[in-house]
Amino acid sequence: MNIILLGPPGAGKGTQAKRLIKEFNLPHISTGDILREAVANQSDLGKEAEEYMNKGELVPDMVVIGIVAERIKEEDCLEGFLLDGFPRTLAQAEALESELQNQNKKIDYVLNIEVDESELIQRLTGRRICQGCGRIFHLVFDPPNETDICDICGGKLYQREDDTFETVKKRLDVYKKQTTSLIQYYDKQGQLINIDGNKQPELVFDEIKGIVGVKN
Ligand code: AMP
Repeated sequence: MNIILLGPPGAGKGTQAKRLIKEFNLPHISTGDILREAVANQSDLGKEAEEYMNKGELVPDMVVIGIVAERIKEEDCLEGFLLDGFPRTLAQAEALESELQNQNKKIDYVLNIEVDESELIQRLTGRRICQGCGRIFHLVFDPPNETDICDICGGKLYQREDDTFETVKKRLDVYKKQTTSLIQYYDKQGQLINIDGNKQPELVFDEIKGIVGVKN
């Protein structure tokens, strides 16, 4: 089963992706995660991507398309995969379609998680991550016991550079601008399934399971 998970930054794609890959045993292909790892390693890809990411802009299509085209050829993707954060533009969607055709594959579900903008801003700007273990907290929804200290490992919490208010606004604007045509594209193909992402994560997942199916 091949799934695309769409939704603006802060829509809860990461949370839903985690549940989906566990429930359906799918490899999780998150272009944001792949790019962040490349930046952390300061690989050639990371150096190229970093300046775009810190400004809240999209990394050029050709770079991201290349990453995904290679990744979905890997053996663990034979039975299916979950794409998270890709495609983000019409060009990426078209490139994906032709790559899938080459590989004799197709997309089964395009799940589009929709969330109100004010909710997205609150979710993103309040996010804090532990430097030590990577646990994600939220200043309002899931605060640590001690300010800026991780409950689990005592590590220091930090804010992702692209989660500041200015950059969040920019990321949401970029998302809207770039993905309107993408969403129309999947809608026209009759593949788009809108999911209400304003709800609690478990209710969002119930909605998704109702569509994708429940595994025994
Ligand atoms: P995310 O974690 O999905 O919000 O991605 C973080 C950042 O990585 C984005 O703001 C972009 O700079 C970059 N990025 C992730 N996925 C893509 C993509 N499909 N196309 C272009 N840039 C991407």
